[in-house]
Amino acid sequence: MARRCIFCNSGAKMTDEHAIPDWVGDCLPGEGKFTFSREAGGTWSSDELTMKVARVCKTCNEGWMSRLEVRVKPLLCEALGGGRAEWTPRDQRRIATWLYKTAIVMDLATGGSRVPPEHYRFLRKNVHPPQRSRVWLAVYAPHDLALGKTNSGGIQPMYLTFDGLVTGYRVNGYGLTATIGHLAFQVVGYEGRENLHFDQPPILGVAPNDYNAELWPVRPTSLAWPLRMGFDKPNLGLYAERWNGTRAVRRTP
Ligand SMILES: [Zn+2]
Repeated sequence: MARRCIFCNSGAKMTDEHAIPDWVGDCLPGEGKFTFSREAGGTWSSDELTMKVARVCKTCNEGWMSRLEVRVKPLLCEALGGGRAEWTPRDQRRIATWLYKTAIVMDLATGGSRVPPEHYRFLRKNVHPPQRSRVWLAVYAPHDLALGKTNSGGIQPMYLTFDGLVTGYRVNGYGLTATIGHLAFQVVGYEGRENLHFDQPPILGVAPNDYNAELWPVRPTSLAWPLRMGFDKPNLGLYAERWNGTRAVRRTP
């Protein structure tokens, strides 16, 4: 059976889409091989960012996706390398779109995507994340990155499923937590008609606004980067699992 493009359903020729675009390598400090890891197990090293997905057609790859990369690189490059940035609401919208796109393509690359097909199609059609999704950005600061060692690029998608988190209402959703360079980001999406409210819990006594920034839905104010707190490797697990409770998510009244 011929594969179809995950974004536009075209049966045309598929291209290899890099889950992490090539330009990211220009922004990361240090030299040498990149190390990737994924929750399913196994790590490997490579001279380039080789995690590829053959589920994207040429038209998407060289069209809207390429334009998104070109717009986002100058916005994110400094922050990926651990530097400072200031983002307007318009910048944040573009960054949120890129983080959402990158998270769901990384999810595809792990082989078992939990993102419903409609959400891929929505992204391609509207070039912004779905209404029933959230995108948060955090600082990733493990010690080996701070030292500029070889594993200066890495990814670590993790999953969580919303089942019965809201009393009397079953919610099917996905949560993807990933890191690239000095950025950690979390994408949550769900199906159904209800709008959900997410009460972000404190982590290690730190308030949500100090450990991550909500980029989608778009905030009305500019954002200065980096945030006060960064996650190291062990604490990133706490971040990935922050929705593993039944009180954090509820229906919007
Ligand atoms: Zn396509």
